[in-house]
Formats: sequence, C-alpha cells, structure tokens
Amino acid sequence: MASALTDKLTRLVKEMRGQARITESNVTDMLREVRMALLEADVALPVVRDFIARVKEKALGQEVLGSLKPGQTLVSIVNRELAATMGEGISDINLAAQPPAVVLMAGLQGAGKTTTTAKLAKHLIEKRKKKVLTVSGDVYRPAAIEQLKTVTRQAGAEWFPSTPDQKPLDIALAALDYAKKHYFDVLLVDTAGRLAIDEALMKEIKDLHAALNPVETLFVVDAMQGQDAINTAKAFKEALPLTGIVLTKLDGDSRGGAALSVRQITGAPIKFAGVSEKLDGLEVFDAERHAGRILGMGDIVALVEQVSAGVDMEAAQKLAAKVKSGDGFDLNDFLSQIQQMKQMGGLSSLMDKLPSHLTAKAGAVDMDKAEKDIKRKEGIIQSMTPLERRKPDLIKATRKKRIANGAGVHVQEVNRLLKEFEQMQGMMKKMKGGGLMKMMKKMGG
Ligand code: GDP
Repeated sequence: MASALTDKLTRLVKEMRGQARITESNVTDMLREVRMALLEADVALPVVRDFIARVKEKALGQEVLGSLKPGQTLVSIVNRELAATMGEGISDINLAAQPPAVVLMAGLQGAGKTTTTAKLAKHLIEKRKKKVLTVSGDVYRPAAIEQLKTVTRQAGAEWFPSTPDQKPLDIALAALDYAKKHYFDVLLVDTAGRLAIDEALMKEIKDLHAALNPVETLFVVDAMQGQDAINTAKAFKEALPLTGIVLTKLDGDSRGGAALSVRQITGAPIKFAGVSEKLDGLEVFDAERHAGRILGMGDIVALVEQVSAGVDMEAAQKLAAKVKSGDGFDLNDFLSQIQQMKQMGGLSSLMDKLPSHLTAKAGAVDMDKAEKDIKRKEGIIQSMTPLERRKPDLIKATRKKRIANGAGVHVQEVNRLLKEFEQMQGMMKKMKGGGLMKMMKKMGG
C-alpha cells in the first residue's frame, strides 16, 4: 500500500520537474522529507542520519551531472542507497559446514522463530534437496515444542523430540548426535522465546551457540516491531555472532523500514523475508526489491514471479493459442482466469505488490468485497451447463433464472457477469494472446 514516503517523494519529484539541476537547496528540501519519512517508518535516527549524508554526497556529486530529470535521479539514488544499505544482491542460507550444518534461530517470542524454522526446513528440502531435522529448545512452553512438531511435519522434515523437563543444551546435543548418526544435512535449532531481553535466557542461547558451533545464527525479527526491533537487534548482536537476519511479517502493513536499521545495527545480511503465516511464505530477501517497496515503487519483480508461479502455465498457453487462432474466448476461459486469480493469492495480495500510483486509485475498493465477488462469479459459471459456457449466446431468460437459482444469486448478477464476460472477450481479442502476463508487463512498464 502507498506509504507516506512514497507520497512525499512523488510530490517532490513533481515539484522538481521544472528544475534543471540538483542543487544544494532543492536536494535539501527533498532529503528533509526522506529523512522524516524514514523516521516515521521507525528507522533508527543514527541510521537515518548516515543514510541521508550518503545520499546527499552522491546527489551532489558527478553522478547526476547533465541529468535532465533531477527528481527522478534523486529517487533512483535514494533507491540504490537504500538497497546498498540493506545489502547487495541476494544471499541465501550458508550450509558450508561438515554435515549436519547447524542453524540456530534467535529472537523474541512471537517474532516468528518457530514458523520460520519450518519455512526454512521446507525451503531447504524443496529448493536444495536437503535432509532436515528440527529441534526445539523451548522447555518453558510445552506448546512451543508441540507447535514445532506440527509445522515440521507440514514442512516434510523430521522433528527431534524434546520435553520440558530437559535442559536446552542436552536437547540440542542429543539432536546433533542423532543428526550425525542419521546423516542429516541440516539441523535447525529453534530456541526459547523471550518477551523482552532477559539475562538468563541470553546466557542460555550463548551457551547453546558455544556448544553447537552453528554455521548460521539467524536473528528472527518482526518487521512490525518498529523502534523495538532496533533495541532487540542490538542486544542479540552483543550476545551472539549473528550471521543473518530473517525479517518476518512483511505481508503486514509495516513499511519494512526495520530492514534498514536492523541490517545497519547488526551488520548481518538480511537473508529471508517472511511474507505469510503459511509455510511457503518465505522469500529469499532481495534488497533492491525491498528498497522499491519502501519507496513505493512497487514490488514488480515479486508480482511477476507470483503471477508465473500461480498461473497454470499449460492452461495459460492454451488460452493464448486459442485467442491467437481466433477461436472464441468462452466462459470456460473466463472461469479459468478467475480461478488463476484466486491461485495467485487473491486480489489483495496482488494489489500489495503493485506500484502505489496504480493502487492509489483503487484505494477505496473494499478487497474483501472484491474477493467475495470473485467467488460469486465462480459459482454462477459453475451453475451453467458445459454447452452454455461454450456458447453464452444460448443463455436466454429462463436459463438465466435457473442459473441464478443454482448459484444462489439474483438474475441481475448473472446478467452483469455475462456483460463483463463480453467486455473481457473484446479485450482478449484486442490483446491477441498476450494475456495476463502481457497486461502485467504493461502495468509494470
Ligand atoms: P516464535 O514465538 O518466535 O516462535 O513465533 P511463531 O513462529 O510462533 O509466530 C508468532 C505468530 O506470528 C504466529 O501466529 C505466526 O503464524 C505469525 N507469523 C510468523 N511469521 C509470519 C509472517 O511472515 N507473516 C505473518 N503474517 N505472520 C507470521
């Protein structure tokens, strides 16, 4: 969704459009807004200061000499600098150790450690073909152990049992021993949650670290935590040699500003982003893409990926071929488009990834309502006979009534759907086969 930072930058770029050069005075105006927006997004003050100073230096330097659009140049410098601060390129998990590679999960209670442990297990099994064992050292909350057991099963990994009467260190060492004997590639160690920084629990995780010698010590932090994330990050960095960060709950409406300061404060790269409660909601963190999100330029890359992952490629190609060859686009195709839309995680998930200048217009749309509407449409088409779906012209008044009854809607809704279908059909003819992907590309360009 559009952030205040986006709005301000957009306005300033507009104001600066008439100006030919980046000058000390116009850059100062713009950077004041950037600075305020970053602070509002809960980026720590020293991090903001540092950031602004670097951007200013670059903006006034030779990089922008001769630029025709100073506003855009500035946005691009801010964007690049944001990405650079959050880490260059993409860094996946490091497993370069004598197997089993031990990964220690650290963070506050509720940050998403257990969920992330299972997500990582799934990622390592599916993407890197690893044999994964998980274990919980959270002896203070029996429910936490059970939770890890459940999600580990869902992820398709193996879970090593532990009970509240054991010592975390004993559990971890027993799991390590088991992992060695049974040739596991990776051992993921979930640790006790703490509501706030607590000396005893910090010592416990330090001891765990010393005994396990993990190849990765991942700090799991909730992106919605704001300023608190900074203090937590500081404490964990002092206690442990962190090798990476997992930023969770980026699907929420936080601006993701925590990424900037957590990265700067810990010095550790952000490796993954949690983007849903589900086990497939883990993405390898991409700093550049995230910078685009903070600036509201839209997560186009993620959108395109989501589209290609969600779309049944075979069905999409068939549809494309059909439209190209001039065969009619019928209600079956319309239904399959609606269903693909659903597979992609629904409208709201797509909207979140679009640039804010596109979603701003749609801001007033009630997403829940829109998704319900999709379901009703599906119901209507499913109440039609196969022939009716192929040849909607055949649907006369009495049939419409029957279809409406079948779907539990008013006849007017059936009429509306048929009208929308006709419009879509017209559009499909014009697009000649590019379909959804082409449409997306147009929006992104
Ligand atoms: P732990 O106490 O650190 O182990 O945290 P949990 O793994 O139990 O997560 C706490 C809550 O946050 C649970 O309700 C999770 O479903 C939720 N959660 C974790 N990661 C994400 C995420 O990336 N997105 C969303 N929306 N929820 C998440």
